[in-house]
Amino acid sequence: MIQEITMRYNQMKAALETLSAYLYAHPELGNQEFESAKRHTDFLEAHNFLVEKAFLDIPTAFKATYDSGLPGPTIAFLSEYDALPQIGHGCGHNMIGTISSGAAIIASEMMGHLGGKIIVFGTPAEENDGAKVDMVDRGVFETVDIALMAHPSNETAVAVECLAMEALQFEYIGRAAHAASCPEKGINALDGVIGLFNHVNALREHMVDSARVHGIISEGGVAANIVPERAVAQFYVRAKTKTYLQELIGKVKNCAQASALATGTQLTISNYEKSYDNMVPSPLLNQVITEHFKSVGIEDIKGARASMGSADAGNVSHVCPTAHAMFAIGDETLAGHTMAFAEATQTPRALEMMEKVTVAYALTALNLLKDKSLVESIKAEHAANLTQA
Ligand SMILES: [Zn+2]
Ligand SMILES: [Zn+2]
Repeated sequence: MIQEITMRYNQMKAALETLSAYLYAHPELGNQEFESAKRHTDFLEAHNFLVEKAFLDIPTAFKATYDSGLPGPTIAFLSEYDALPQIGHGCGHNMIGTISSGAAIIASEMMGHLGGKIIVFGTPAEENDGAKVDMVDRGVFETVDIALMAHPSNETAVAVECLAMEALQFEYIGRAAHAASCPEKGINALDGVIGLFNHVNALREHMVDSARVHGIISEGGVAANIVPERAVAQFYVRAKTKTYLQELIGKVKNCAQASALATGTQLTISNYEKSYDNMVPSPLLNQVITEHFKSVGIEDIKGARASMGSADAGNVSHVCPTAHAMFAIGDETLAGHTMAFAEATQTPRALEMMEKVTVAYALTALNLLKDKSLVESIKAEHAANLTQA
């Protein structure tokens, strides 16, 4: 089977590598990935997938379906193709959609009489406004049995933990005044923000190691001789479970309110981006993928990796078993969200991994379509893990 999949990969190899290279050279930010989405849907349409563009009225989302017409599991591949400001594809999302489309097409061509459906979901704006959150909220994954995606990294690990995350904005409003001639008439909004940072720094000592709180001052006044009337801080709060996340958010909000009280500023707290869920583990699914990774010659597969980041695939994992494997395109010194990482997606090593992961994921999809009891076991395990997540 690997031979036939590899043969089919080779027939598409140039097109897939061109797709990834095009995205690398023409990065588009979240929710502006019009050309990136079009290149994916053109490719899927040319390979007999039925494409719904602007899926759910999200302009750069899509749903591409191959329906065998026979009963069977629905296997979804998740595509991402958004880039980062100034550093382009520093998270390597130019490879994610490419692998998902390649694996989905190969599996669709080989599924024969197995039955079931293969769907590729184009999911925009993972970096800043994850469309998967809307898709989950609107029930898109209720009819999906298993969701698969793979993300480039500096090491290969199939079992990946992502943290639950909430994006909180703190807006402090004070009163402007001449900072030298009549400071007593002013209320300093920047002091509200600085107090927030100091309280959060004190809180940090008492957080569990697996949590993260980190922020920036996005507005801190307009001139040094004016008491800042308005100051804004944006934070990400992250934790391993949704329960601890809520506890931590409560404490961070208290820090913000304490600072508002101390400075006499007016505080407004809001969410500036969507919240992401933690990843619900699916060890059995990960085991299946690990076997297929090994069978295509992927070496040095690490054990469970605790990524301290967050991903909107986490939300999908709260609905159906979801795989978010990481695959190495460089050595351990390679850091994500850098230009060096974007460049690494174009190296021979990355292209070799793109082929191997695509072949392994096509194998995984065919394995799942064929073995319906395996799908049921994976779903049963997921349901049990969901109650603890
Ligand atoms: Zn990223
Ligand atoms: Zn990413």
